[in-house]
Amino acid sequence: MLLDIQNMSVRYGTPKGPAYAVNDLTISLREGGRLGLVGESGSGKSTTILALMRLLRGGEVKADGITLSGRDLVSLGEGAYRSLRFADMSMVPQGAMSSLNPVLRISEQMGDIFDDHGIRHTRPERRAVLGDLLQRVGLPASVQDRYPHELSGGMKQRVCIAMAIALGPKLILADEPTSALDVMVQKQVLATLGRVQRELGAGIVLIGHDMALMAHFVEGLGVMYAGRLVETGPVRRLFEAPRHPYTRMLIDSLPSFERRGVFKGIPGVGPSLLSRVEGCPFHPRCSMAVDTCRQSLPQPRAVDPEEPAHLAACHRAEEVR
Ligand code: SF4
Ligand code: MG
Repeated sequence: MLLDIQNMSVRYGTPKGPAYAVNDLTISLREGGRLGLVGESGSGKSTTILALMRLLRGGEVKADGITLSGRDLVSLGEGAYRSLRFADMSMVPQGAMSSLNPVLRISEQMGDIFDDHGIRHTRPERRAVLGDLLQRVGLPASVQDRYPHELSGGMKQRVCIAMAIALGPKLILADEPTSALDVMVQKQVLATLGRVQRELGAGIVLIGHDMALMAHFVEGLGVMYAGRLVETGPVRRLFEAPRHPYTRMLIDSLPSFERRGVFKGIPGVGPSLLSRVEGCPFHPRCSMAVDTCRQSLPQPRAVDPEEPAHLAACHRAEEVR
């Protein structure tokens, strides 16, 4: 197994009390696999990735276990974590546009990754290495001489992908890598990400809120709500036979040919992370809620006789249509 997370929780201290951003998250990813995490903003997707990268500010992470290729990450010291980032596990951040430093040429920003890992090159070697990386993500080698403001959004996003693959990691964590781009560019950038991931044989966790875009890219999908994984399984099964009312609503909200471009929207607002709702966190918005839902928290369980990896955390999973 490439990545294995057992019962990870992330809690923030806020002036109004603790905020529970991620609760008891258990997921795994095989070598070279593609997992998508979807959910509304505030569902805990970005927090999950930042916790894995240990780049959370102020959050407290607890887990029964987090391993990368069998190596325990929970007990790893800061120094070891620094060498692990980019080399073993890297991130394509949300909003690449703003993650690049505006006053540094692309060559300096990319070069920092090698410098930080003690990888030395002569000047011509470094130019060749960076040029090759840029070409692998579909950019001309000369982009290294440019400043971020001289590049389009799609080009900047490609630079971020080039940086993420620079040291050949086994795992890429991509946080809504295309959300700020227009639809055509989104598809192209995602295709590039998929190609370089396959070339590397790396696994990828892709997070986003566009289930349709995601469906073409990943093999496994996890649906998050209020910091919890409410349904997970092969992407095809989740679309064909969702077993959680929230997943059903997400699918129904997708624009279809009949309702061209018109989103139905999802009624109600997500729960505040500050309050822990009794019972099922989705019950205030769920049309299927019954008394049991208001009293007891549903645990993820197998809900599909034909697919043991298909789990849903809903008391009434079998009745979802
Ligand atoms: Fe709805 Fe109850 Fe299932 Fe929660 S457990 S999603 S409230 S039916
Ligand atoms: Mg986010």
